[in-house]
Amino acid sequence: MREINGRTRVCGLMGYPVEHTLSPLIHNTLAQELGVDMAYVPFSVEPGRLKEAVEGARALNLAGLNVTVPHKREVISCLEQIDPLAQKVGAVNTLVRCGDGFKGYNTDLTGLQRAMKEDGIELAGERVILLGAGGAARAVAFLCAYAGVSEVWMLNRTLKKAQAVAAEVNQAFGRECIHGLALSDHEKIPKGSYLAVQGTSVGLFPHVEDVVTGDAGFYQKIHTGYDLIYRPSATKFMQLVRAHGGKAYNGLKMLAYQGIQAFELWNGVAVERAQAASVMKKLKEETGAHE
Ligand code: NAP
Repeated sequence: MREINGRTRVCGLMGYPVEHTLSPLIHNTLAQELGVDMAYVPFSVEPGRLKEAVEGARALNLAGLNVTVPHKREVISCLEQIDPLAQKVGAVNTLVRCGDGFKGYNTDLTGLQRAMKEDGIELAGERVILLGAGGAARAVAFLCAYAGVSEVWMLNRTLKKAQAVAAEVNQAFGRECIHGLALSDHEKIPKGSYLAVQGTSVGLFPHVEDVVTGDAGFYQKIHTGYDLIYRPSATKFMQLVRAHGGKAYNGLKMLAYQGIQAFELWNGVAVERAQAASVMKKLKEETGAHE
């Protein structure tokens, strides 16, 4: 156990609720692994009190913060500066000190990209099926456009939401690469071989037998399935992708890398693969994942 003293840098998480967050595990593991004198604390910030909380963080000289639900959009109005990609997406999950204030970044996106790269997935030129149009899937749609995929078929139960996100992303990047479609119309996706990102909450523990579709024709189009869910470690969606010959990954590495990149930004260090592997090991132990 490291000793906290007068020189310890304090970072933390602002969200509501924060009771079940895995972020302290990630950051305290990294601090230990890299020998950085930093402590990480979750702060429960009620809706409507975010501005006060950011001002308090400045006054307390906190070294950096993560921001989670429901504050990722609203926090932008509390920043001195913002990274261009985070600005485009309109969501910030990491605050880094800049002068007397904070600069905002979105390591959910860059972390997912790094996690995918490590699993051998390159988004540039890829054909993508994206399931969902909520907060997480919206972020993935931005990442896909940013990383230069050739096309994205965004499938959602509520068609209007998929169409709205598609229009927003296409406008932000000036090209028609995202196509909104109702989940029930998945057979309209052209024949081909796709990377599928599962960004809905269907299949999340304890509803582990649920899946957006069980249709074999759908899974035959998928060479790799990436589920953003990490509880359970192998979702029904992942099992079906594998049963049809594809590779499948869960969202634990995405979670790890959004934290790792925040840690790098706060402390000016580079986290190596072996150190990232220690974080993954701890996360697997904590979530009971055996993949
Ligand atoms: P959200 O904003 O509430 O969106 C939920 C999405 O799931 C919507 O597209 C919704 O469709 C769809 N959905 C819900 N129930 C459905 C059902 N019965 N049938 C079909 N579609 C259904 O949630 P979120 O924040 O985007 O999170 C989505 C998932 O991503 C969660 O499971 C979360 O654990 C995971 N996630 C993982 C990470 C990570 O680091 N690995 C980070 C963020 C999120 P409608 O629009 O039709 O309601």
